[in-house]
Amino acid sequence: MRRSRGRGSTPAAPSTCPHLSAATFQPEPLTPGECQDCAELGEHTWAHLRMCMTCGHVGCCDSSPHQHAGEHFRRTGHPVMRSVEPGENWRWCYIDVRVG
Ligand SMILES: [Zn+2]
Ligand SMILES: [Zn+2]
Ligand SMILES: [Zn+2]
Repeated sequence: MRRSRGRGSTPAAPSTCPHLSAATFQPEPLTPGECQDCAELGEHTWAHLRMCMTCGHVGCCDSSPHQHAGEHFRRTGHPVMRSVEPGENWRWCYIDVRVG
């Protein structure tokens, strides 16, 4: 398995990456409407919710105190999440650090 370590953005970068291209599967959110890890802590202090496109894990965003969506990526290596905020459908690749 090849892992891109590119952090800087190159002007000629394509508009998507292999992970975003591959992430066409839409899993059911495991914990609709709440961050799974915050719920386990008994907390409801997140700012926004993100859902893992690999397994459906719902975690809180990087503006939240616990940043569980990012932690989920670091723990599992699942590269792509999407926003599950109402009216938002953008996706994010943690490996390539890009929206798609
Ligand atoms: Zn990617
Ligand atoms: Zn959380
Ligand atoms: Zn996942």
